[in-house]
Amino acid sequence: MSGLYARESRSVSTMAHLRFFPQAVVGGSGAYLTGDDGRKLLDFAASWGAASLGHSHPALREAVNRALSDQAGASYLSTANEPSVLLAEKLLSLVPERARGRVWFGHSGSDANETVARMVVAATGRPRILAFNGAYHGGTVGSMAVSGHPAQQGARAKGLTLVPYPNSYAAGSPEAAKDAALAHLETLFATEIPPQEVAAFFIEPIQSDGGMLVPPDGFFKHVEALCRTHGILIVSDEVKVGLGRSGRFNAFEHCDIEPDIVVFGKGLGGGLPVSAVVGPEAILNHAVAFSLQTVHGNPVCAAAALAVLQTIERDHLVANAGRTGRMLREALDRLAARHPLIGDVRGRGLALGVELVADGAPAARQTALTVYRAFQLGLVLYYVGVNSNVLEFTPPLTLTKAEAQEGVAILDQALADVAAGRV
Ligand code: PLP
Repeated sequence: MSGLYARESRSVSTMAHLRFFPQAVVGGSGAYLTGDDGRKLLDFAASWGAASLGHSHPALREAVNRALSDQAGASYLSTANEPSVLLAEKLLSLVPERARGRVWFGHSGSDANETVARMVVAATGRPRILAFNGAYHGGTVGSMAVSGHPAQQGARAKGLTLVPYPNSYAAGSPEAAKDAALAHLETLFATEIPPQEVAAFFIEPIQSDGGMLVPPDGFFKHVEALCRTHGILIVSDEVKVGLGRSGRFNAFEHCDIEPDIVVFGKGLGGGLPVSAVVGPEAILNHAVAFSLQTVHGNPVCAAAALAVLQTIERDHLVANAGRTGRMLREALDRLAARHPLIGDVRGRGLALGVELVADGAPAARQTALTVYRAFQLGLVLYYVGVNSNVLEFTPPLTLTKAEAQEGVAILDQALADVAAGRV
């Protein structure tokens, strides 16, 4: 089977980045990539969810080209250009009333979350922040400071307190997971952390990098009530699962809550670097003091983001994520019935996870082998989770039923090959 690999691309092996595949990509269209050996690869990762419209989408290409040649784009003047003004207005219309104040633009989910962490402390005068164990809010020092993912242990802020994210699979049921996580929070407030010292609670409405965990019904409603009681701001990190991926435009809508601050990234630019923080004026105005970046809000990325949002609306991609996601989920459930390695299938819309276990323990090695084998067979996947044993599916929002079926068939083969030791 090793013959399926043409070679290890030199251009890839020179890079000091985490890379799942020993191959450079030379093109792409829709849900497919083309490798430098000419192979077509079905992309169920979509660049960690960034390629929301898939690859080489005409609307995105046209918007970027136009912005590059327009007068408005010619100056690259940070934030005060027409596309970024229009984008800010559009984003404000997409968040709940309480978050409808100002918009701050960044380049990545990391710089956006970092900016929020600084703003909420400055605005409230409260020194503490809450976040979840397993939460990945970014890879810069300031975003790692408010993250709970094991990869980021060294950089946590002194004022950060991590609390358990309810894990229904590990706890045995959604109710047990919810009760334990809420009891932890209430005990924490009663005994260790004065809630009036907490500026904000960073939440993920689906915990993606921590293992694609879906919160039990009612969990975040309860968290919201606690936060309101104590005047704690709720920050919803929608970087990976927002913008329609979950089958609703904002993933927090599934939880029936209204965050104070919403953070967008990844899919917002369809692959171009742009992120946004949307929240009340009194808080967002604090960003002015410290979060100036030379080309944030530049017209090219803003035009790309506008094209992404317009295309999501025009082509009903939120509904497609819900519909195709349900179909993909059902197909994965059917795989689970045949592959003993699959312990759990979960997620919402086109944000899905498959947890692999062997002898009741996280099957990290088999997970990595499955990703590798799937790649050999023509499917791009990646894995997440605090134990690195959850296959993650974040395909383009344009995914069709036929593409979903094709990907599941490849995964089926990959799992069978891993189980049989053929890889
Ligand atoms: N927040 C979440 C939920 C993420 O999944 C990620 C990246 O995986 C980030 C923030 C950081 O975004 P970026 O990689 O664009 O800095």
